Amino acid sequence: MNVPERTLKTKGAPSLGELEAAGMLPGLEDLKARACLCIECVEEIPCNPCETSCPRGAIRVGSPITNLPALDRDKCTACGLCIPACPGIAITIKRVEGEKATIRFPWEYLPRPEAGDEVRMVDRLGRVVCPGRVTGVNEAARNDRTAVVTAEFASEHVLSVVSMQRGPR
Ligand code: SF4
Ligand code: SF4
Repeated sequence: MNVPERTLKTKGAPSLGELEAAGMLPGLEDLKARACLCIECVEEIPCNPCETSCPRGAIRVGSPITNLPALDRDKCTACGLCIPACPGIAITIKRVEGEKATIRFPWEYLPRPEAGDEVRMVDRLGRVVCPGRVTGVNEAARNDRTAVVTAEFASEHVLSVVSMQRGPR
């Protein structure tokens, strides 16, 4: 299990370099091999729904509860149950298949997007990175009103994209 550094950025958005240094992101080869969980949680806050929501015991926060979450990739099946459970909207699942990347991410806004919507994918600072297309919206009751959106976009942007821009379709 990869236990991340505990003393990281405490405000603002973490940079890609900081997340990679903390071991929180999969590498490009991992993303080409299978769907991979990405946890972008670098603040020492008292929080652990990621841990308690995982039926596989793949995420550990432990004690103290301010520990950063540590992921055991060998246990993770990319089921996505932890995505809507995270109050910090810090968890996504990404995959690269050739020229195309897919991402599953939490979405707490209204109106909900719909499959087929043409959207704008954004990075950690909310900057538009590239066009994308919604391919699915999961609004299962167990998600407690947080939708899990699936979208696809050009794979060259897979490390930057974390969500999509809010606004008119
Ligand atoms: S995606 Fe599923 S298996 Fe993986 S950490 Fe989240 S809840 Fe656990
Ligand atoms: S539930 Fe989300 S915000 Fe809370 S510790 Fe886990 S990843 Fe971080």
